[in-house]
Amino acid sequence: MIRKNILNFTPYKSARSLYKNNHNDLITLNANESPITSIFSLNKKIFNKYPEPQSRELINLYSKYVNLSTQNILITRGADEGIDLIIRTFCNKKDDKILFCPPTYDMYRVTAEILDIEYLMINSNINWDLDLNKIKKNLSNIKIIFICNPNNPTGNYIDKNNIIKLLKLTKDKIIVVIDEAYIEFCIDQTLTNFINKYNNLIILRTLSKAFALAGLRCGFILTNKYIIDILVKVIAPYPIPEPVINIATQALNSKNLIIMQNNVKTIINNKKWLIKNLNKCNCIKNIFNSATNFILIKFHNSEIIFKKLIKKKIIVRNQNHEKKLNNCLRITIGTFIECKKLLFELQKLSF
Ligand SMILES: *Cc1c(COP(=O)(O)O)cnc(C)c1O
Repeated sequence: MIRKNILNFTPYKSARSLYKNNHNDLITLNANESPITSIFSLNKKIFNKYPEPQSRELINLYSKYVNLSTQNILITRGADEGIDLIIRTFCNKKDDKILFCPPTYDMYRVTAEILDIEYLMINSNINWDLDLNKIKKNLSNIKIIFICNPNNPTGNYIDKNNIIKLLKLTKDKIIVVIDEAYIEFCIDQTLTNFINKYNNLIILRTLSKAFALAGLRCGFILTNKYIIDILVKVIAPYPIPEPVINIATQALNSKNLIIMQNNVKTIINNKKWLIKNLNKCNCIKNIFNSATNFILIKFHNSEIIFKKLIKKKIIVRNQNHEKKLNNCLRITIGTFIECKKLLFELQKLSF
């Protein structure tokens, strides 16, 4: 009785499901979470009533943070719900396809497969940037283009001029979704300024990465008021749990925003230190440029490295299965101590 597309597709492999984490002495550098914890406590204790469908207070705070009108914002259960909501709202089965550019975030494919929407993959070019010429030639029946910026798992940001060219090319025809899950690590690359210029632009945001709140499951869709009003028709009636609203609201106050920004600086400094030292390890072939809180590294033999690191309780994300990423591992930037431990092990694996 199960739909064929559900029976046959390969589901998303979360970092968690790949490595059952039941020890707390593990160094988990596999899911791009923040290593820096903040302590929150709920200051609401009664939950007998439904939450506001879209918390006005939370939207006000996020609107100040991104410098957009409150009418341009929708709160979602993580950016992942945003991906699902947008495909469900715009794509007709059989007629419409989505397009994305591998190697990239796997949830565009997974969500399309679950919803039985066809997808077209146009590989990114050698610099991991958009292959605009090829995209231009393949736009028939495309309804949505997903661009992950900066990109996961490669870590680079996409040339802003290319995104603007794409927005012009697709105006009034195709929705362009920019997934800015990691944008706080290169905030000058954000496209929020263009929301009121291009009516086909949608931006995804999350509190899971720079805000160190992956456990909260809170994200945002930023787009024009017209699209927001349509998405509101499709999203569940009370999507965001009251405890999530409560803690997200605290995370967005001015004091905690400064803490978040300082944590971003700390992680970027750890990254610089780590890359500088990893450059001397000869088990490494290449370290790709990173504008995020993770680095993609090409090794001479990634399988050996991956297994040795696990033995040392350091868990990273294997990318070897991706066509263009053989011998690559994606490593999240941890605390300075975690970076030192990782470096120590990789130095031992060099000769
Ligand atoms: C982590 C990640 C997400 C998921 O964000 P949630 O808000 O935790 O659902 C979305 N897009 C990219 C590119 C990510 O890396």
